[in-house]
Amino acid sequence: MTDYPHLLKPLDLGFTQLKNRVLMGSMHTGLEETKDWNRVAEFYAERARGGVALMVTGGMAPNREGGVFPGAAGLFSDQDIENHRTVTERVHEAGGKIAMQILHAGRYAYSPECVGPSPVKSPISPFPPKELDEEGIEKQIADYVTAATRAREAGYDGVEIMGSEGYFLNQFLVTHTNKRTDRWGGEYENRMRLPVEVVRRCREAVGEDFIIIYRISMIDLVPNGSSWDEVVQLAKAIEAAGATILNTGIGWHEARIPTIATSVPRRAFTWVTKKMMGEVGIPLITSNRINMPDVAEDVLAEGCADMVSMARPFLADADFVKKAEEGRADLITPCIACNQACLDHTFSGKLSSCLVNPRACHETELVIAPAADKKRIAVVGAGPAGLSAALTADDRGHEVTLFDRADKLGGQLNMAAEVPGKEEFKDLLGWFEAGVAGSGIDVRLGTEASAEALEGYDEVIVATGVTPRDPQIEGQERDNVVSYVDVLRHGAKVGQRVAVVGAGGIGFDVSEYLVTEDSPTEDLPAWLEEWGVGDPEATRGGLRAEGPRPEEPARRVTLLQRKAEKPGKRLGKTTGWIHRAALAMKDVEMKAGVNYERIDDAGLHISYGEARERPEVIEVDTVVLCAGQVSERSLADALEAKGVTCHVIGGADVAAELDAKRAIDQGTRLAAAL
Ligand code: NAP
Ligand code: SF4
Repeated sequence: MTDYPHLLKPLDLGFTQLKNRVLMGSMHTGLEETKDWNRVAEFYAERARGGVALMVTGGMAPNREGGVFPGAAGLFSDQDIENHRTVTERVHEAGGKIAMQILHAGRYAYSPECVGPSPVKSPISPFPPKELDEEGIEKQIADYVTAATRAREAGYDGVEIMGSEGYFLNQFLVTHTNKRTDRWGGEYENRMRLPVEVVRRCREAVGEDFIIIYRISMIDLVPNGSSWDEVVQLAKAIEAAGATILNTGIGWHEARIPTIATSVPRRAFTWVTKKMMGEVGIPLITSNRINMPDVAEDVLAEGCADMVSMARPFLADADFVKKAEEGRADLITPCIACNQACLDHTFSGKLSSCLVNPRACHETELVIAPAADKKRIAVVGAGPAGLSAALTADDRGHEVTLFDRADKLGGQLNMAAEVPGKEEFKDLLGWFEAGVAGSGIDVRLGTEASAEALEGYDEVIVATGVTPRDPQIEGQERDNVVSYVDVLRHGAKVGQRVAVVGAGGIGFDVSEYLVTEDSPTEDLPAWLEEWGVGDPEATRGGLRAEGPRPEEPARRVTLLQRKAEKPGKRLGKTTGWIHRAALAMKDVEMKAGVNYERIDDAGLHISYGEARERPEVIEVDTVVLCAGQVSERSLADALEAKGVTCHVIGGADVAAELDAKRAIDQGTRLAAAL
């Protein structure tokens, strides 16, 4: 008997069967652009072996003008078809199914050649699109059809036509981007003509026994988005045009509402897909922030959809479905929705990977094989770097002893887990704990490992982490000055008026912690209210007229930094704006370009710029220091003094810009090579 009867139930599509209700959603990893087709094939094959029923590739451009960026991959030549056949064959050998996503970016294409219904520039692109004429529109449709037939030739089981997220087809649907007065604009009937025509002609060309998924924007989350009636009308027309399955898209890329970040509650939008259930006869897929089998099971059991789409969870763990089938969900590496190694990489032009699984997209290169020589390995420090090294070394058959002076595993992750909106870190900690419990690692918590005690090991890995940097502000020894460690780890008392010194990732996190009473991430109605999301049946695009309605801030916080740049500028590429917006909603005042003069009874004294002008006192009850970190190297230094060679990783190696991504990657790679 399984815990996930709905999730693991096959789905009959008539001409083919899906072995369970799990779709691996499309992700642009950048793998196709490496042109290393063995590597691309292995990425998908590993996930097919892990039991997912159907996968969707990253977006493939139907033509040059529709590519997300110049040179975006697509099936343009016979060689491209051959290359993609390597992928589909490997997936089929592994028992999987795979559909190719056709993604036309329209005005989101990062190119002066971009095209759209009308020349309305998007706020997230510098290029206004060229308005297509009748002939131009016919060419776009023909290119979709060519892409679909080539996908079939390349051995794909189907295609997904990307119609959501504010891309090309979505741009035709709403009056904000479609100002046309011909048969492709004006009345809704006309505005929806293009997506329907694309599906109809693709179906005609590929035949009946080929999956066509249409990804429909169920809630646009932009002003003047589609009304619910329009979405339903489109869904019915798309079904009639020949789609096999409807997948859910949530929000345009330019929407100012987070839709997939870690602070978005789990399954935050499945209620939207549920509204569509019964309106069409074809299966519906729901998506966004579903990252564990129990969540997915509940979604299906509650009748929100026929299938669930999970994308990033398959970067985190290729064996997601297999582990669920085996009743070992506790061993599924959880996607914490941080975007740090996936989307942030994509938007920086880098290959995607995964913070919690550095092997993602590096399957052929980062191989964790049994060790030729079994060694005795000591790992000191049970933060993310040490834990990753210890688990990987254990996996390879080494004899591992793990020391930490704290009485629990996790190091700095324990502090992250305290921050409202970062609750997923609790699951990451749970996963590390389950992994260690099921391993052969000899765990010595509450144990300070001295240099002497470490003699005699074949390898010593020092992952002792960081200590807070001392900002040396006059008066910082006062009782009302505390560090982020005091606040997040030891629950130090903090007054009503607070100055946070340092606006890095931790300064932002601490501010969030201080202004938030109850985390809206754990309370969906509160979160929807906070960000101004409403029922799309009541309000176009699902944007409430009243706008965001956050809870009153629990404290008055001023966040400061010395650099004159915009605070939060260096936070995650795809998530920084969310942190800035969340604090702005809670009236956190941000001051940049400051000098910290002193702290006294009156509060924190600051001035601005090199000339130390405009002196000011911020009247506060508490000052929290979040001024970055320095490496904790005392053990590494003591070992080196004794002539014991050690490997120093994580924050103990380099403290600057340390994050869990670098720590886990470094720990895993080191242990894979020992
Ligand atoms: P950080 O990002 O290096 O920020 C340190 C802050 O302290 C900066 O605002 C810095 O700005 C200030 N500072 C540095 N030296 C100072 C001094 N001597 N006196 C006063 N202020 C000083 O470090 P962090 O905030 O501790 O975060 C550590 C790491 O954790 C970061 O690399 C980050 O990537 C990661 N993290 C990430 C997230 C995330 O959301 N992705 C969240 C938490 C942590 P000025 O020098 O301009 O004053
Ligand atoms: Fe999930 Fe973060 Fe990994 Fe991306 S990098 S897949 S968001 S855990």
